[in-house]
Amino acid sequence: MTSRGYVSQDVVVRFAPSPNGLLHLGHAYAACFAHDYARERGGKLLLRIEDIDSGRSKPEFVAAILADLRWLGLDWDDAVIFQSDRLDSYAEAAGRLRQQNLLYPCFCSRSDMRAVFEKQGYDKGPDGPIYPGTCRRLDPDQAAERMKSQPYSWRLDVAKALLLTGDLVWHDARFGDQHAVPAAMGDVVLVPKDTPVSYHLAVTLDDARDGITHVVRGVDLFASTHIHRLLQALLDLPVPHYVHHPVLLDETGSKLAKSRDSASLAVLRNRGVDGKSLIENLRKNIFPVGITLAKD
Ligand code: GLU
Repeated sequence: MTSRGYVSQDVVVRFAPSPNGLLHLGHAYAACFAHDYARERGGKLLLRIEDIDSGRSKPEFVAAILADLRWLGLDWDDAVIFQSDRLDSYAEAAGRLRQQNLLYPCFCSRSDMRAVFEKQGYDKGPDGPIYPGTCRRLDPDQAAERMKSQPYSWRLDVAKALLLTGDLVWHDARFGDQHAVPAAMGDVVLVPKDTPVSYHLAVTLDDARDGITHVVRGVDLFASTHIHRLLQALLDLPVPHYVHHPVLLDETGSKLAKSRDSASLAVLRNRGVDGKSLIENLRKNIFPVGITLAKD
């Protein structure tokens, strides 16, 4: 038992922002949703800072996240978790997948890909064009030679991985039982060229490590869950429940983005807006002018 009176098998939820920009109203909504989901069930809310991208993550954005959450009156439990403290565990897991021959080195650059897509067209996935598998077909000796001199990422061979795991299912509290279709995302990168680990691998490992029972996050990450489910099966990790909540849209009907500073929480906070009233309004689905909640 902890001071709040919960026991370890109870609900554990996390809010997991990336400190690569200022949070906006969409994050306030997501943080509130995760916070209330945990608290209404007597559970725990963890705060995990997803700062694996050392080039884009900035200490001032971490500071702003903490200030925003306090201003909104959303509390969390335990010490703040930083993914940058866990790089060894990500490398170890990637090594295990490599040993199983499930990863292959990919030398394609963004411009290589653009050229291929322009010439041959592409299949569209939830996050943009699907990788056409160019480097999956490389001769292994040739690939090993290129690795000596060229930068490369490690991609997951999804078809090969699925042969190993067979059919997989997961459950979303709002959308019901799901049959995992990781192939819809293509052979995702698990270890990028320029950062130690991808979002997919880090988040899957950490949700297990942190004992997350309910992954509460925006529906914009729904498709990623298919990949996460596959990684759970490959790495022998527990499967949490999922709750993908709707996201906020701006006046053009697009998802709010970090680049849109006008909607940033820091701007509102510095303008003297009352954060707790703002959260009360979000709870009642009352949004500032121009902001709406997506249907799903
Ligand atoms: N770090 C991710 C983001 O800021 C969210 C991760 C998650 O909730 O799975 O978009």
